[in-house]
Amino acid sequence: MEPVALVEHAPFAELKPPFTPMEAQTEASRCLDCGGPYAPAPCSVACPSGIDVPGFIKALRRGESQRAGQIVFSANPLAGTCARVCPTPVLCEGACVLSHVGQRPVAIGRLQRTAADAVANRAAFTAPAGGGGRVAVVGAGPSGLVCASELARLGHQVTIYDENPAPGGLIRYAIAPYRQRVAPLEDEIEPLRQAGVAFRFNTRLTGRSAFLALEAECDAIFLGIGLGADVNPELPGQNLFGVWQALPFIRALKDGHPPLVGRSTVVIGGGNTALDAAREALRLGSDQVTVIYRRDRRSMPAYPYEVSEAEAEGVRFHWLAAPVRFVGDAWLERVECQYQELATGADGRVRPQPVPGALFSIAAENAILAIGQTARAQFTEWVPGLRFEQGRLAVDDNTGQTDNPRYFAAGDAVGGVSVVQAVQSAKRAAQAIHRYLAGED
Ligand SMILES: Cc1cc2nc3c(=O)[nH]c(=O)nc-3n(C[C@H](O)[C@H](O)[C@H](O)COP(=O)(O)OP(=O)(O)OC[C@H]3O[C@@H](n4cnc5c(N)ncnc54)[C@H](O)[C@@H]3O)c2cc1C
Repeated sequence: MEPVALVEHAPFAELKPPFTPMEAQTEASRCLDCGGPYAPAPCSVACPSGIDVPGFIKALRRGESQRAGQIVFSANPLAGTCARVCPTPVLCEGACVLSHVGQRPVAIGRLQRTAADAVANRAAFTAPAGGGGRVAVVGAGPSGLVCASELARLGHQVTIYDENPAPGGLIRYAIAPYRQRVAPLEDEIEPLRQAGVAFRFNTRLTGRSAFLALEAECDAIFLGIGLGADVNPELPGQNLFGVWQALPFIRALKDGHPPLVGRSTVVIGGGNTALDAAREALRLGSDQVTVIYRRDRRSMPAYPYEVSEAEAEGVRFHWLAAPVRFVGDAWLERVECQYQELATGADGRVRPQPVPGALFSIAAENAILAIGQTARAQFTEWVPGLRFEQGRLAVDDNTGQTDNPRYFAAGDAVGGVSVVQAVQSAKRAAQAIHRYLAGED
């Protein structure tokens, strides 16, 4: 059956558009400039990348936007990206003291964007000439880019390898376009190019021989490899037209080839990716978007504020339900689901259990599976000493060093879930690589 009434792609307006200069100054003047020499401001403490938040806001208030930009980029080479994509309600803005007195927090994310946009690709740094070690960075996602930036600042020679044709990792290919399409990523990478960091795109490193070659050329290797493909539940009917895995669905959208959607879309999963896919399907023109999740609302891994925002946009939720099969004739017609109940197992863990016979169907032309990403476990076959624990590459938390001392890692591969966490762990790993190259323990 052909899908009914496919709807044309609608534009994706930015969720958090930029402030005008006047708005930025007015918003900056709401900051109480709390914190001091003995107790840093809670917003700065809550920022994983360590930005001096009251410092850059004070500069904006004085009209010194260049200075504000220097402050944010000195702590975070992806400050403009983070300004757009950070989950600020659970980080800096969630910590803002104004919310304790019943006021809305200072819009720190949007102010950071004003500061970052003021300097854009002029945030270059001068790398020390000569010397330094040779470091290979595998992955040009946020963790690889930030590790390379920090190492170049410290005078090391860095080459970044990525299987994709362009840098950015999930920023470029997965983050919802109503948060960030690509800009200002290229501006943020320009200082790395100017500092001599080399990029090798369309280069997928696989197999022991590829890593032997890197080991022969380099003194240390950083793995910013993120996670792999979507988890595949292999349900009956999954190959029908209209059934997507979340990452290819979002990537098609970000690459400028938005998938055609029908009137009804079912999204399976309870994390932030599921909510992004649901909100994207709405914007693409589906007017009935239903998220089904096998546990209850409280157990959803998505940020609660994202669930509320999706609800406000019209996304419906079916908690305690799981898909059983996809039904249709060539094209998806309905998703058959089963109600679940939460039961405590002998080990004390609460798990969803299917309720016998409790089946129901949702008519849909599209389904998007967003139930998580797999680990890139093949790396253990290619690099001796690497080890995965619960799907994450095992590293020393303080240094990012793996059990193979020449290899360091950060970002999603070691357990992060956001760009700013990738920035934080990559900065830490870069400092550790610097010490390792200097022969320190
Ligand atoms: C749908 C979705 C939406 C998201 N939205 C947000 C958001 O709004 N805000 C937010 O803060 N975070 C968001 N995130 C999370 C964020 O994107 C990640 O935490 C972050 O990108 C992790 O960075 P990374 O460098 O560790 O990995 P990645 O961004 O995954 O980059 C890893 C890179 O390594 C490359 N690579 C891997 N293996 C090899 C190899 N063998 N050879 C060569 N290259 C290789 C990959 O192709 C990729 O380019 C989202 C994630 C998803 C999936």
